[in-house]
Amino acid sequence: MKKYAVIILSAILIIVCIFTGLHFLNNDTEQELGYPEFLEAVENGSVGEVRFTRDSDFFYSRLNDGSETTYKVPDPQKEDFIEFLLLNGIRVSHSDNNAGDIAGVAAVIIVAAGIIWRSRADSSSKELISDARKKKNSANITLDQVAGNTEAKSMVLDIIGFIRDPDKYSAVGARMPKGLLFYGPPGTGKTLLAKAIAGEADVPFYSMSGSDFVQMYVGVGASRIRSLFKKARKSEKAVIFIDEIDAIGKKRARNSNASNDERDQTLNALLTEMSGFNDSQGIIVIGATNRLDTLDEALLRPGRFDRQIEIGLPDVNSRKKILRLHAANKPLSEDVDFDALAKATVYFSGAMLESLLNEAAIQAANEKSRLITRAHIDKAFYTVIAGAPISDRSYIGEHDRRITAYHEAGHALATRLLLPENHISRVTIIPSVKGAGGFNLSIPRDTLYQSQRQLLSNIKVLLAGRAAEELVFGVQEITTGASNDIQKASSLIVDYVNKYGMDPDMGLFSLPVQEEGLDARLVEKCRALINSLYEDTRLLLDSHREVLEELAARLLERETLEGSDIEDICA
Ligand code: ADP
Ligand code: ZN
Repeated sequence: MKKYAVIILSAILIIVCIFTGLHFLNNDTEQELGYPEFLEAVENGSVGEVRFTRDSDFFYSRLNDGSETTYKVPDPQKEDFIEFLLLNGIRVSHSDNNAGDIAGVAAVIIVAAGIIWRSRADSSSKELISDARKKKNSANITLDQVAGNTEAKSMVLDIIGFIRDPDKYSAVGARMPKGLLFYGPPGTGKTLLAKAIAGEADVPFYSMSGSDFVQMYVGVGASRIRSLFKKARKSEKAVIFIDEIDAIGKKRARNSNASNDERDQTLNALLTEMSGFNDSQGIIVIGATNRLDTLDEALLRPGRFDRQIEIGLPDVNSRKKILRLHAANKPLSEDVDFDALAKATVYFSGAMLESLLNEAAIQAANEKSRLITRAHIDKAFYTVIAGAPISDRSYIGEHDRRITAYHEAGHALATRLLLPENHISRVTIIPSVKGAGGFNLSIPRDTLYQSQRQLLSNIKVLLAGRAAEELVFGVQEITTGASNDIQKASSLIVDYVNKYGMDPDMGLFSLPVQEEGLDARLVEKCRALINSLYEDTRLLLDSHREVLEELAARLLERETLEGSDIEDICA
């Protein structure tokens, strides 16, 4: 073994010496030149040759002045720079003679040595081969790893069959969609499902995100799209995944003439590439977005993303499946009840469920516990929802604590009075690292619809924090702590009027929501409504002032109250 090491090391040394030597020779007569001076030289026709190296920050140039001097010039990294040079009659070459290469050669030698080493040491080379294949289609995700989402999974089965054997479909004249669109809230497994399609069909998975294109120079987005498709076409069959596709394919504003050049170019490049590849090749493009309604219709036309699949938040059964899946490799104690946990995690996405179990595992590890217990999961629950609690609370002043206590007591009391069907799980005045001063956790019943009463009650519960502050401390002492509540309440009231048609005054008429903002009549209506709901809430809390005081006092004393404590106090 030692002999090998010596041979390899000396080989590396020799090669490094050769390359460094070359490098220095070249650098003997090297000077730096600014980009503007370079452009001037181009204009004067005095640039003869340009050589690019792998170090993309610079390129090297030689002038037509007969000297041996090489000029080192900052690379503008513009897309059509090379074309510009060629049009000016400049010879362009690419040279790999630089430090990156030495590292490259050394890396190859080391890897080769590693392989020899491994096979000598009788570690099977089979392992290496299967490793490589896994990488090819992103760790071989299979449909089994996607829990729930039954409908979406069944809607992609034929796509998988098509990628595997496109001829079967073209033989009977079937045209498969070139593009699928997954839409639904974040963390629901859209990326996971796309990877599973690639995994099941055993083809490479290429991905990029629309948000990468935001605020880029004109043309760069389009060229990235083209090079992504070029790569995919090389491997013949492939899944191309574009996350946050709304960032490049957003609907244009109704009354706006201002076009966004970059976005349009990127979108056009995508559509052109999609119409460019053969129907029967076995390439499928999958776009993902949180919101279908903001997408440009051009994307949804036949031959583009014409199969749209909703991937929603998991229902109680799916949540149980997802929890079981992610618990499979974790030692859970017997007191963990999946049924109860699935029920308590209404509105959790798959990603939140995964993170819940992971946080619980971290808790267990921190406590050096062998098993993950219900208490660990309980702690993790609040971390996932509100962020980790701040452990050093000594800096929080007494006045701030009092405000938080009344604010949270207001939410809790309003929940108890207005939404008795919700289960209040915990109220705390411990701030979280995510910036919440404290919070209320109440678990709504898992239902398909919300009634008018529930919707209005939800808005009142949101406003109750501010209402309690005003009642107790006076209108001039209200704080910024309610900002998040107010935003949520505002968006709910707009939906109440304009989306659900629940306001008797406005009736069933829904005004189109424009990119520049809401219609003035709608704004007036919503403002009046929310102010009157706030007034109701304030009066409601005032008529239960004693309970409010008691809740706040207990919160100040104990920081956190469980659902049962709240019940006791309110009773
Ligand atoms: P999206 O693309 O919809 O934002 P992801 O696919 O990135 O969501 O999901 C993030 C993670 O959440 C996944 O890697 C997985 O661990 C977990 N997850 C989400 N949905 C599911 C599901 N249906 N089954 C199993 N795990 C899921
Ligand atoms: Zn609040």
